[in-house]
Amino acid sequence: MPANTCGHLEAIETVKHPKQRECAECVKTGDRWVHLRTCQECGVTLCCDSSPNRHASHHARASKHPVIASGEIGERWLYCFPDDAFVEY
Ligand SMILES: [Zn+2]
Ligand SMILES: [Zn+2]
Ligand SMILES: [Zn+2]
Repeated sequence: MPANTCGHLEAIETVKHPKQRECAECVKTGDRWVHLRTCQECGVTLCCDSSPNRHASHHARASKHPVIASGEIGERWLYCFPDDAFVEY
């Protein structure tokens, strides 16, 4: 993935990490997820686009919170939905 950045990514000083290693929406319904993503605006941890429910994408669109971080151990990157920007940190 090419590294490109945007104002949203540049504004992030401290990356929010998952408080719990689970999708906050999937656990309510007993659904499964593949990977975890943490919203950098409100700190909620939700599931990725490879997961059946794509909760992180839906959250970004509905709440207009642009940036997520990977919630996976060993992955250190941020992604901005509106700008399709990606950066490793
Ligand atoms: Zn952006
Ligand atoms: Zn989910
Ligand atoms: Zn959010």
